[in-house]
Amino acid sequence: MRIHHLNCISTCPLGGRLMDNRSAGILERGELACHCLLVETADSLVLVDTGFGLRDVAAPRDRLSAYFLLLVDPAFREEMTAIRQVERLGFDPRDVRHILLTHLDFDHAGGLDDFPHARVHLLGRECEYAEQQRTWLDRQRFRPQQWGTRAQWRTYAPDAGESWMGFECVRGLEGLPPELLMVPLPGHTHGHAGIAIRHAMGWRLLAGDAYFYHQEMDPDVPWCTPGLRFYQWMMEKDRGARLANQERLRRLRRERGDEVELFCSHDPAEFERLSGRPAGVPVAPRAAR
Ligand SMILES: [Zn+2]
Repeated sequence: MRIHHLNCISTCPLGGRLMDNRSAGILERGELACHCLLVETADSLVLVDTGFGLRDVAAPRDRLSAYFLLLVDPAFREEMTAIRQVERLGFDPRDVRHILLTHLDFDHAGGLDDFPHARVHLLGRECEYAEQQRTWLDRQRFRPQQWGTRAQWRTYAPDAGESWMGFECVRGLEGLPPELLMVPLPGHTHGHAGIAIRHAMGWRLLAGDAYFYHQEMDPDVPWCTPGLRFYQWMMEKDRGARLANQERLRRLRRERGDEVELFCSHDPAEFERLSGRPAGVPVAPRAAR
């Protein structure tokens, strides 16, 4: 299992330093990553989350809500999309046979349409709530314009599976090796999940938007920037579940931190540590295969 870390277009939220704690001031915009993974399995490529895609770059106003465009102002650069970074790695995007989604928010599902041959795996509850479009905010965050591959989605019931490292209902995925697991982590959305990947050195767990800032996972003194605390409060669908899952993730880091490398979708410092390059730089090109 070779794992590549891809930032599929940074967002630049209002609030600057209040969000990311590393921009110079609060009047400039911050920078958050959209941390995706490309996993090489024995017989296919698997993409975990998709960030923003080519169509978002080409026509953001057709695909995304004016509200979030104003709030997070994505840095639309085609070279940062998942499909272009897959190509830079020397792969044929058609070899991406599977996509695992943490959830359906606009900044995770935007690249789905760039991989029309991939089967998409996600929790059924996420589909149901996203499609219902119940609230104004749901209509801004869940964008049916990004769901052109809807016919290839494979959904899973959230109440089946086994326990794994203190988490329940964890399951393997159809047509994928047992080294890839979906770990339900509801709260941010109702069908939100983390993705665990076993590799030679242990596990990696992409916790999606279960938390946003690395210091939230500090077992002793958890802390989050005020801007990201507000953003998580604004976006949460189930506060009790979200906070309980954060507590379980902190326990995982405390008790199994040497076996499981835990990281979230949007923290640029985590992305830079795991990828070994600045968040605004695409993956290094590899000679064509
Ligand atoms: Zn997100």
